[in-house]
Amino acid sequence: MHDYKNGKGGEPSVETVLTHAGRAPEEQFGFVNTPVFRGSTVLYNTLADLEAQKQRFLYGRAGNPTTETVESIVNELEGGHATKLVPSGLAAITIALMACVKSGDDVLITDSAYEPTRAFADQFLVPMGVSVRYYDPRIGAGLAELMQPNTRAVFAESPGSLTFEVQDLPALAKVAHDHGARLIVDNSWATPLYLKPLQLGADIVVHAATKMFVGHSDVLAGTITATEEAWPDVSRVRALLGYFSSGDDAYLVARGLRTLSIRMKEHEARALEIANWLQGQDEVVQVLHPALPDHPDHEIFKRDFTGSGSLFGIVLKPARREALAAFVDHMQIFAMGFSWGGYESLCVPSKVRRTVHPWSAEGPLLRLHIGFEGVDDLKADLAAALERYTEAR
Ligand SMILES: *Cc1c(COP(=O)(O)O)cnc(C)c1O
Repeated sequence: MHDYKNGKGGEPSVETVLTHAGRAPEEQFGFVNTPVFRGSTVLYNTLADLEAQKQRFLYGRAGNPTTETVESIVNELEGGHATKLVPSGLAAITIALMACVKSGDDVLITDSAYEPTRAFADQFLVPMGVSVRYYDPRIGAGLAELMQPNTRAVFAESPGSLTFEVQDLPALAKVAHDHGARLIVDNSWATPLYLKPLQLGADIVVHAATKMFVGHSDVLAGTITATEEAWPDVSRVRALLGYFSSGDDAYLVARGLRTLSIRMKEHEARALEIANWLQGQDEVVQVLHPALPDHPDHEIFKRDFTGSGSLFGIVLKPARREALAAFVDHMQIFAMGFSWGGYESLCVPSKVRRTVHPWSAEGPLLRLHIGFEGVDDLKADLAAALERYTEAR
């Protein structure tokens, strides 16, 4: 592998890691990028080689140089023991949970988790004999009161999907470890550029690589990174379940990662500008963005994060459904759709499902992903939408 760490001594910056990690030009005729490897069968020359499993990749499902390129970039950024690329963000979440619990165990999941995380826990883990409970995302050290002798995992997502509560990860990690459980963190929003959960005590970090890593809305992928202690379980469950990500997809994830830092900076600045502007709009009751000083978790955000993402929420004044339709149906620049992280801006109404801490906002909640269109065009599109909302309300 290309050695980019020698030279100046000390740790390279994240920008240097993003541009140099995972590359091996000398192994591929000098070409800059690891090419797309497609393959199932790996060949062995002799019986001795076969018995010694002498190839670096034994069989296609074990990975290939293209998937390994992504894995080394992400692992370097997260500071993990090892990382595996998997077919989706949800696959990363389900592998991480299954790596920690078995029948008879208990898992605590934040009430603010991404909905498919809940669906997997309720509809797969529970029928497999795992007890699933939810906790208030702002519980912090109070989590200790919920821990049981059979609690093996605590799942956090910070900030939370749709509602943007920031979680006290060091406090959660301490409670989890005091009780022999692992902390799993979904770090899709901040990326390892702005939050490093393993440094804050987490054991496993998962990403919807589909979002910021890929950055162009054209690939589904996920990553799982773990500490040395947790890695054998993660690696075993991934292999047993047969998850594999193709070289074609891996190539695009690596390509996206190379520009992650400059994209994140642009997303951050644009999202903040629009979030601040929305705070002054009449129809907007609340802007849910952890980097705004009046966000309830802003202190934790400042302590643990070094930047903010592209995605935030707004709560509008209560209105008829027709007003919400008038808002979203005629937008010219923002498009409506699930997912986020691409170059294009999205605006989607969100339905919050809570079982521990009810969501109390009366008006509609919208989730905005700010892409790379002109900021003034985005503001004009939102201003027109707000005007239609006022008229129809
Ligand atoms: C989208 C998303 C996921 C799932 O990622 P997929 O690649 O779509 O499976 C997980 N967590 C969060 C926070 C997400 O936004």
